[in-house]
Amino acid sequence: MKRSEVDRSKLSPMMQQYMDIKDKYEDTIIFFRLGDFYEMFFDDAILASRVLELTLTGKQAGLEERVPMCGIPHHAYVSYVDELIDKGYKVAICEQLEDPKETKGMVKRDVIQVITKGTRIDSSIDSKDNNYIASIYDFNYCYGICFADISTGEINVTMTEGDHDKVIKEIVRNNFKEVIVNDKIDREIVEKLRTNYEVLVTITKEEYEGRDYEYIYKNVEDIRLVKTIKHLLYYILENKKGDLHHLQPVNIIKSSSYLEFDDNTKRNLELVETIRNRERQYSLLWLLDKCKTAMGSRYLKYSILNPLTDKNQIEKRYDFVSLLSTEFILRDDLIKCLEKVYDLERLVGRITYGNLNAKDLIQLKSSTEVLPRIKEILTELKYDKKIDTFEEIYELLNNSIREDAPYTLHEGGLIKSGYNKELDELKSISSGSKDFILKMEQEEKERTGIKNLKVGFNKVFGYYIEVSKGQCSLIKEEYGYERKQTLANAERFITPVLKEKENIILGAEEKIISLEYKLFMDIREVIKRYGQSLQKTAKILSEIDMLQSFSIVSDNYKFVRPTFNDNKILRLIDCRHPVVEQVMKEKYIPNDIIMDHTTNVLLITGPNMAGKSTYMRQCAITIIMAQIGCFVPCKEATLPIFDKIFTRIGASDDLVSGESTFMVEMKEANYALQEATENSLILFDELGRGTATYDGMSLAQAILEYIHDKIKAKTMFSTHYHELTILEKDLKNLKNVHVSAIEEKGKVTFLHKVKPGAVDKSYGIHVAALAKLPESLITRADEILNIYEKKNVKKETFTQTSLFELDEKEVEEKKNEIEEKIKNINPLEMTPMEALSFLYELNKEVIKKK
Ligand code: ADP
Ligand code: MG
Repeated sequence: MKRSEVDRSKLSPMMQQYMDIKDKYEDTIIFFRLGDFYEMFFDDAILASRVLELTLTGKQAGLEERVPMCGIPHHAYVSYVDELIDKGYKVAICEQLEDPKETKGMVKRDVIQVITKGTRIDSSIDSKDNNYIASIYDFNYCYGICFADISTGEINVTMTEGDHDKVIKEIVRNNFKEVIVNDKIDREIVEKLRTNYEVLVTITKEEYEGRDYEYIYKNVEDIRLVKTIKHLLYYILENKKGDLHHLQPVNIIKSSSYLEFDDNTKRNLELVETIRNRERQYSLLWLLDKCKTAMGSRYLKYSILNPLTDKNQIEKRYDFVSLLSTEFILRDDLIKCLEKVYDLERLVGRITYGNLNAKDLIQLKSSTEVLPRIKEILTELKYDKKIDTFEEIYELLNNSIREDAPYTLHEGGLIKSGYNKELDELKSISSGSKDFILKMEQEEKERTGIKNLKVGFNKVFGYYIEVSKGQCSLIKEEYGYERKQTLANAERFITPVLKEKENIILGAEEKIISLEYKLFMDIREVIKRYGQSLQKTAKILSEIDMLQSFSIVSDNYKFVRPTFNDNKILRLIDCRHPVVEQVMKEKYIPNDIIMDHTTNVLLITGPNMAGKSTYMRQCAITIIMAQIGCFVPCKEATLPIFDKIFTRIGASDDLVSGESTFMVEMKEANYALQEATENSLILFDELGRGTATYDGMSLAQAILEYIHDKIKAKTMFSTHYHELTILEKDLKNLKNVHVSAIEEKGKVTFLHKVKPGAVDKSYGIHVAALAKLPESLITRADEILNIYEKKNVKKETFTQTSLFELDEKEVEEKKNEIEEKIKNINPLEMTPMEALSFLYELNKEVIKKK
């Protein structure tokens, strides 16, 4: 039964109420509170029962058929909501707004919040990661982008020019889980985001028009940015409904203030996760993260993805890192303090909005306790930003909240004694009366002479006096005992005095619980006022935490402080790949990367497995490390400040969008050629290998020439087309280098050492042998190679004119196919299945040729 087909006039009042609410939240799954359950109805119920594996039942609602329904206990709803959100649904929590016990007729209900991928703030989000929701506002020729993490209150806004691909790149790079777009936006973008990248997209033109949150964009001048911010604010406020004053004034990002790179580069360089397993372990982030707080880890991740371009800012970070390394005793002290600091940003989020509990306030107390000491240390180290110490908050919490307070706020046990007089009085009344009752047992025993008389308590009858059946005859009229309950071998009585005390105790306890709750809420209100300044201090602490982490890793892994120059000189002496170096069992071979002001392009040749890709990656990683203010994995390093990095490394099909390797490769090359400046770094790893040899080689050469003559960006270009090395003659800013290998008795050893000049042997067959292809096959490949070499296949040197006269050579190329094929594989990147089918193909061809 579909909701849309129902005759609403026949529905029960409650179901009508449901329908009215659902009308307003069409695109969400409504969790409709009924007593102790959240129920879902109609299509929601059918969907949820399938996704959450719940039993689908039905409810009488006035129609002939029962309405489809499924439900979950209210106290366990969080995990169910999480699961739906993870799968890309939106969930609206609809609550009872009145106490059913005190309401005649139907209870009022309404949605109190809508939870979506980008607006969840519960414990299910990763503490070491930001959870961003973004608004993308299409202004015809450019896009406003505003993104917020509601759990921390951080909001950023920026403007980007360019086409669809550029916007999508931005969204993917920043890992936005949810995006709000205005209705002008091209539907192609929306479709791509939804299907290719699983981004939750909502189209709306609404904008925030209130005044309460004006402070967020008060200082923004560009009205397009303001529009974008208001667009996001409307959606957030509409969904979260509660108080969101922990949202901070917006931070305007100017694109030129960060080193830019796209999602591919982020992936290729394994900056925050590995390519293979998409795990944090063995990424650059993993290596550099010795942060003590979740805030620090989040900020580190942000910094790695947004390195700086301002020399002064970077140098300031270096200064502090190096000072921390010399003042290591103070650093230890600082680290001990940071260990006591909890996730202040998210705590403030919970204090302002969301489910705050007493444990959170204990964490806040622990965090604020160490602030004065941190402040002292920072002053000693002459750090230029000042933190607040919030002694008032510490005092308040230290005096008020019990360390052993429970998670719930409705059981008492939250507030320390000595904090509030009324509470103390109630407590002493309650405990005084309890003492009285204990004493009473003794007195009654003496008065009645019944030795086994007991005073007890249960929830139904309250306090009672229990006398065993055999002793009951000893009870006299004048004692005033009133029979209340008969058990198998005892009777229970009450007396007026007992009842009077009982009323006092129970009354006091009820009052204690509600007073404690009220006091807790008052404390929350007081702390709420510090929200914005707590956020500011939290921001500074995260930066400091990141810098102490840099100092630790720089010491541990022998990183050095780089220097910057304005002369386009890149000199990285004994440079290493910092992650490979730590993970590898054998010794890592350091290499120099030298491009002085007359060298822009390094053409890298060398056999497969020699270390070409690694060499290129370590260059980019060193630059990124330098520009986030970390020391670098070299013995000596000087470099210019880069504005953008482009990479094309590895031949991975873009499986998502279904484009071929070669198409993806060309698109990425084009992107680099369009966007790069002379201050950029370009890494092209074996570009052109995705197409036929001569195609690929021609393209590679043309691209090299284009970069060399027009763009002048620092470029590392690895290739297996040895023919290209001749270019060094004509292109004066291009240098050949090669990664060496030695061959002894038919065995190849990789030295991983980069040397000047070119190499002309590819050792493809040796790699195939390493990959354990059958011996007979390898021998045969060697034979074929010999034949070709004997034929003295003349080495083509390509000048621009000869490039396109290839008919004859194309014929030759066919013969060369097998060798090419073996040359072109990277056994390390193959799955066993791929290797097997490759082998099968080779085998077929060899037989055919014979
Ligand atoms: P290529 O791109 O030339 O095929 P890679 O860069 O993929 O080679 O490197 C192949 C392997 O060689 C890497 O997995 C790494 O283990 C090792 N390697 C690369 N560079 C070095 C080095 N400088 N020192 C030691 N081992 C290295
Ligand atoms: Mg490689």
